[in-house]
Amino acid sequence: MKNEEITSIKQLLSTEKKIVIVPHKNPDGDAIGSTLGLYHYLLKGKHQVHVIAPNDYPHFLKWMPGEANILKYDAQTKESDVLISDADIIFTLDFNALNRAGNMETALAQSTGIKIMIDHHQTPDDYALYTYSDVNMSSTCEMVYLFIAMLGDTTLIDADIASCLYAGIMTDTGSFRFPSTTSQTHRIIADLIDKGANNSQIHNNIYDTNSYQRLQLLGCALTNLNVLPEHRAAYITLSQEELNKYDYKKGDTEGIVNYGLSLDNIVLAAIFIEDKQEGIVKISLRSKGDFSVNDMSRSHFNGGGHINAAGGRSELSLNDTVEKFISILPSYNKALNNE
Ligand code: 5GP
Ligand code: MN
Repeated sequence: MKNEEITSIKQLLSTEKKIVIVPHKNPDGDAIGSTLGLYHYLLKGKHQVHVIAPNDYPHFLKWMPGEANILKYDAQTKESDVLISDADIIFTLDFNALNRAGNMETALAQSTGIKIMIDHHQTPDDYALYTYSDVNMSSTCEMVYLFIAMLGDTTLIDADIASCLYAGIMTDTGSFRFPSTTSQTHRIIADLIDKGANNSQIHNNIYDTNSYQRLQLLGCALTNLNVLPEHRAAYITLSQEELNKYDYKKGDTEGIVNYGLSLDNIVLAAIFIEDKQEGIVKISLRSKGDFSVNDMSRSHFNGGGHINAAGGRSELSLNDTVEKFISILPSYNKALNNE
């Protein structure tokens, strides 16, 4: 961010404001961690602050301090609409286009509140007065830390803020292993531990609170794993019937796509998850090296994200979606075999 922008934001925040903070639809650890981290920081400025999520999120994020105060737009629409239209400032975190806020899109677009985007996805839209966008960042949580630092308030980071930001950096970097993890990321993580983030407890809260059914669903997914060695690709399918069989809950499929990528010599992994209620197949793509799943998702699956992690959707049947995926692979053969 430019110095003048920081100065203006500092000025803006120097008096009491009504503030709304919004993560993307189907919020993940980075979305919830960054919104709550910023929430705790802004509360110190005596503002009226509300986090409004488009919809619910997995149970393994529900330990975060302040989480109980998050409003869910799909369940609390009226109350949320009033807060959004009355807001002086709206922070949009961890997304790059208003349609990523799902059914909140219209309310956000209509609000006259000053919009501030903090995000690390590619090609940000131009809806915010202040846009802090950096695709080289590991996570929006890392950016919220830097945002607080730019405002000169690092000393205000307490254990609550530190815990939320730690959680989001950890989940978005695959526990500090993705190429987006830098020495700066580790320095910030070290500082967050110094400021009270209980790293071991946070890992436990997020990764070691599985239900038995979730592990059985993982077993089913691994049984469904298909490998296409000629394309250096692997994919997993989960039908609605299989999800029902293992009593699927939001978040249960998180991370499963990465198993495909853990195979030797595989550089592209996909998971196709049938959602009969929405009438779509939800797609997650992951890659290694320079192969851009962001490009693949934008071109073929109505989605996007980052170079090595992207999401998308298909309105075809589960089988037809898989067939489409297989049919486009030959056009990527050169790129896949160059990795
Ligand atoms: P996931 O596969 O875990 O849903 O998403 C991987 C990454 O891609 C995340 O950073 C997520 O925010 C982004 N992403 C997921 N779905 C979409 C989508 O439909 N559009 C865009 N632009 N990004 C997405
Ligand atoms: Mn993120």
